[in-house]
Amino acid sequence: MMNSIDPDKGHHLTLMERMRVLSEGTKYDSCNQSAVCHAFGPDGRCIQLYKTLMTNTCSGECTYCPNRCGRDAVRASLSPEEIARITWSFYRRNAIEGLFLSSGIMGDSERTAEKQLEVASLLRDQGFTGYIHIRVMPGTPRYLLEQIAEHANKFGVNAETTSSTNYSEICPSFDYKNDVLQRLRWTCEIIRKKRSETGFREKLIGSNDTQFVVGALQESDREIILAVEKFMDRYELRRPYFMSFDPVPFTPLENNDPSPLWRETRLYQTSYLLKDYGLNTNDLESVLDDNGFLPDMDPKMLLASCTPDLFPVDINSANKEDLLRVPGIGPVGASRIIRSRPICSEKELARMGVVLGRARPFIEMNGQKQTNLFSFAEVGS
Ligand code: SF4
Repeated sequence: MMNSIDPDKGHHLTLMERMRVLSEGTKYDSCNQSAVCHAFGPDGRCIQLYKTLMTNTCSGECTYCPNRCGRDAVRASLSPEEIARITWSFYRRNAIEGLFLSSGIMGDSERTAEKQLEVASLLRDQGFTGYIHIRVMPGTPRYLLEQIAEHANKFGVNAETTSSTNYSEICPSFDYKNDVLQRLRWTCEIIRKKRSETGFREKLIGSNDTQFVVGALQESDREIILAVEKFMDRYELRRPYFMSFDPVPFTPLENNDPSPLWRETRLYQTSYLLKDYGLNTNDLESVLDDNGFLPDMDPKMLLASCTPDLFPVDINSANKEDLLRVPGIGPVGASRIIRSRPICSEKELARMGVVLGRARPFIEMNGQKQTNLFSFAEVGS
């Protein structure tokens, strides 16, 4: 454990202290405050990444952010060489599989992106084959996005919210349409072009990435889900990130209530339903309350319980779409079931990755229902 840092000595911080400050500074860029975060690799596998900012000094004034300009805080930065060295040292010890790099804005977005690019180029030039995820700044020029695409597995700009009006309220230094949406569009075009030139098998093809801050504004889950669906359609966004708002002292939103963590979880689950299960926002209407918010319940389980006429689904005759409606059956499980028919026992289903405790009330096998309504009530609770 390192000791707490004296703000007056910000300019004398050791490397370890700067690492700590900059890992904590990523609080509003994905998952948690440790130096290691989790992300999904191209094959959907969860991987561990070294997560850091290049600097927590920022010219931006986002109202929820601990790094906003003018806030009294310890400021630190790491050079591209230092980040490359630290990444290698974690990587060689098998502590990480890659790097998640974000930053405050050093002067302007162009200069910041140049530095991020420098980190990625350094690593690749030194033979680094791990995963690189770069959160670029709003307003990053297109030519730099194109160069970042040569090195990064994933990159993109944070949307933070769902509309220009909302954005100007929480990120007054930037313009939603130009600095965010235009960049998401360019990233999508760059990735498409790379794909068409190199073929789908090329390992180093980036994917578009963005994040929403949940609960900093009054926007409903319906608005967020609609934005996610739109971004998936227009910008080929695969997996959005969600970050629960947590008030930071000495920021304009310091007295606002934090957003419950479960809301973030429910939004993640809903985004999987959009991406992996082929559902759309209309399908999800029945699980939203009158004000457009998700309850603290698994949305897939809730959807299934709202549509009892669609169940039970017969494991040996249902099509993939119907199998995917069953809680406890995911895209991989559904494909395995279809490939392995006829299926004669729950044991076989379990081997295919089906979560029987969730699926049982909603399935039958060759006309035999697997459980009764009482167990449905237990599972749903
Ligand atoms: S751009 Fe906004 S969210 Fe990003 S570090 Fe600066 S103040 Fe924070």
